Order: sequence, then structure tokens, then C-alpha cells
Amino acid sequence: MNISLSSDFATAVPEMAVSWKAVPVAEPELLAFNEQLAAELGLDPERLRTEGLPLLTGNLAPGVAQAYAGHQFGGYSPRLGDGRALLLGELTGADGRLRDLHLKGSGRTPFARGGDGLAAVGPMLREYVLSEAMHALGIPTTRALAVVSTGHVVQREEPLAGAVLARVAASHLRVGSFQYARNTGDLELLRRLADHAIARHYPGSTYLELFAQVVAAQAALVARWMLVGFIHGVMNTDNMTISGETIDYGPCAFMEAYDPRTKYSSIDEGGRYAYGNQPIIAEWNLARLAEALLPLFADDEDEAVSLAVTTLRTFDAHFEEAWTGGMAAKLGLTGDVQPLLQDLLVLMHENHVDFTSFFHLLGKAARGDAEPARSLFLDLAAIDAWLARWRELEPDAALMDGANPVYVPRNHLVEEALAAGAAGDMGPFDRLLKAVTSPFGERPGLEYFAAPAPQDFSATYRTYCGT
Ligand code: AMP
Ligand code: MG
Repeated sequence: MNISLSSDFATAVPEMAVSWKAVPVAEPELLAFNEQLAAELGLDPERLRTEGLPLLTGNLAPGVAQAYAGHQFGGYSPRLGDGRALLLGELTGADGRLRDLHLKGSGRTPFARGGDGLAAVGPMLREYVLSEAMHALGIPTTRALAVVSTGHVVQREEPLAGAVLARVAASHLRVGSFQYARNTGDLELLRRLADHAIARHYPGSTYLELFAQVVAAQAALVARWMLVGFIHGVMNTDNMTISGETIDYGPCAFMEAYDPRTKYSSIDEGGRYAYGNQPIIAEWNLARLAEALLPLFADDEDEAVSLAVTTLRTFDAHFEEAWTGGMAAKLGLTGDVQPLLQDLLVLMHENHVDFTSFFHLLGKAARGDAEPARSLFLDLAAIDAWLARWRELEPDAALMDGANPVYVPRNHLVEEALAAGAAGDMGPFDRLLKAVTSPFGERPGLEYFAAPAPQDFSATYRTYCGT
């Protein structure tokens, strides 16, 4: 099955696109397939399912490995790039929007360094369910089109079954793409990359406006992560997009008990990418983007720096607006909720209260049944006093219903679904996917998917990078 793909990125910046073939897959088997997304893309879901496996594994035509650089945990690598991924090309969806069709786990590329270029079934299913959950929560993200198992053995700590993920994104331009272009010293390349990004995401913008729009998009994005308790886990500059979509679902996880220091990633020893650090890290990454773009802002370096600094300072206002507005909605309120919110967060922290459950159950409190929410706290006097202050502001339960998800991909549920999937039983994965892709509004029979993890699970839970 052939589909019509363009090569906008490779045409715009050929220096950053290495034409490359995916590893041949002899025994492809479709594990997960997003029919609805296929239809949105203007593809025939039935044909894709039956004839599309060569396409979805990259075995139909070559793609390109994209070059990028990046700061990983604060340390700069001038050459990262797609070590195990390929951009198959861009396609125009049924809605007229241009998107990247991209593979992950499709074999070694010239950027693979020591890696094997492969991916295991579990982590690819993880990206599928997490990214589709995020989309259903209304958060900008890459989308998952399919996971195809390859029949290859992937050697990690133990031998695992291999898989390729097909995903779709507004683009795969990252902060690290600009760092790469700048690092070549070729300003004409940098300008061409910026022109490509502008045409694709922010048409008509000047270079400074491009930066301003990325600042606004990433500030809003991170605020929305925080509002649902999402921890990205590896906010390196190569994992932050220019479009403002969430990308690269490696060690990410949803926070259980509220604590700003929460991190699950096994390699994030210092907690650099902990829940509460995400805004400051996004701003740090954007400073790296500004450095890369600097020569495009003005010929005079002092003037360029001053423009960059002024623009970067807008981050806080964009973040605050999205965060406080979103938090007000979670509380069923409008206007300034600052003192009430701060007091609540302190109480939730002290009482180890599950983030998702609390806001979901607070919706019941807005309808007169406060018991489920208050019973999450040990200090009942304190939560009763807070609830009384909150109730006086006459919260709007309907507003809360649209802001507080009932079903998020909780860590224990994800692990259970992936373990079953890797063992050949996709039932738990399919059921979890059904729950989290309609996250708002309680549905009978799905209590299991709304319940917090058992205590002994949360205490030791860790996620892993690059798996
Ligand atoms: P990530 O942490 O997934 O964002 O990846 C960081 C870098 O490591 C990127 O350049 C990836 O392409 C590369 N990488 C991760 N895993 C592998 C692998 N198994 N084989 C080759 N390259 C990899
Ligand atoms: Mg990455």
C-alpha cells in the first residue's frame, strides 16, 4: 500500500537529513492500530491494517534520519540525531494539516552510536497508550498510529520481543534541531531551518516572533502537563518540540501522591526533571533555543541578547496564566484562586493525597458528597476547613467535570498492560486504552481504572529511558 508523502524537511535542510532504510522485518504483526487517527490522516484504515505493514515498518521506501543536537541532563552533545527512528515523510491529512509520519525502533542509523537501533514491544506500547491518553486529555502531543511487532529479538537486560512504533507529529523539529544547525557555524542553514519552522508552524512570523511563539507554546504545554500530574521525565533539549507538542514518551509517568519532588525515572538521580521543576527546565531549554537563534534576531549581538531576554521573560506570564486558569477550573472556580490553591497543595502534600483522585472526587463534593474527597486526608480538621472555604465560593461542578480526568494511565495499570502485551495478551492494554482515551466522566464498570495504585507499588516504582 503506497501513500503520498512529501519530503519538506529533507528538501528544506538536506544537510540535516540522512536518507536511510529501515531494517527488514520478516514477521510483522499488528499489535495496536489507531483506526480513528488513520481516518483523520485520510488513509483507509482497513487497507492500512491488511496491506500496510510494509509501510508501517519502513520496509516500503526509505526515510530520513534527522540530525539534531541536545543538552541531556544539562550536558551538551553536538550530535545526537535519530539513532533508531526515521521520518518517512510528511502527509497532508483529511483536515488539510501537514504532519510527519515517523517510525521508532526501525533499526540503526548513522546516528546510532552504541545503540542497536531497536525498540521492544513494551516501551512502544507505553508510548502508544500514554500519547493517546494525553491527546484525549486535550494536551498537544505526537499521536500513535500503530505498533507492529517485528519478530526480532531485542537484547536488553533480558531478550525481549522487538517492535516498531509508527507515530504522527506536527513536526519533529526540536530545540536540539536549532542547536545542531547553529553549531555547524553555517548561518544560512540556521536561517533555512528557521524559515522551514516558521512556514510550518507559525506562518508569517519574524525570527523573534518564532521564538516568542515557541516560548508561549511550551509554557502552555508544561502548564497543561502539570494540571494533570504528568511528569515527562527526560526534558532534554532534543525532546522539546518547536510545535509545542509533547514528544518522546520514555520514562514519563503520571504523579500519584502530590509532591512537587516526584520523579520516577531511574536515571534522573538529582531529580532535575521532577514534577515541580518542569517549568524552570522548560525555561532553561528555551534559553538554549534563544542562544541558537541569536544571530537571526539582530546583527548587533547586544541588541539580539536584549531581544531574546525580553522575550524569554514572557514565559512566566504564559505559564502562570495557563496554570492558574487551569487550576481554577479544576476547583470549579473562576478568577484568582491563589491563596486557596496554595493551601490545598500544602495539605495534599502533607497528607500524601493522590492527585488525580482528589480532583475527581472534589467534583462529587461540589454536588454535595464531600466524604470521598475528605477521606483521602489524615488531617480531617484541616481538609474540612479548606472545603468550607472552597464551598463558599460556589464551585461549578460542570466546569470541574471537564477539567478533572477520572481515568489517566496510572503507573501500575500501564505496567500490567505492557507485561500482558509483551506476553502476547493485548486484552489489558486494549481495556486500559479504552478507559484513558475517554478520560472525563465516570463510567460504570471502570472503577478498577480510577483507583490509585497499591501502596507497596508506588514506593518503589521506577521508569527507564531509551528502552
Ligand atoms: P531519547 O532518550 O529516547 O530521547 O534518545 C536520546 C538519543 O539516543 C537519540 O539520539 C536517540 O536516537 C538515541 N537512542 C536511544 N535509544 C537508542 C537505540 N536503542 N539505538 C540507537 N539510538 C538510540
Ligand atoms: Mg528523544
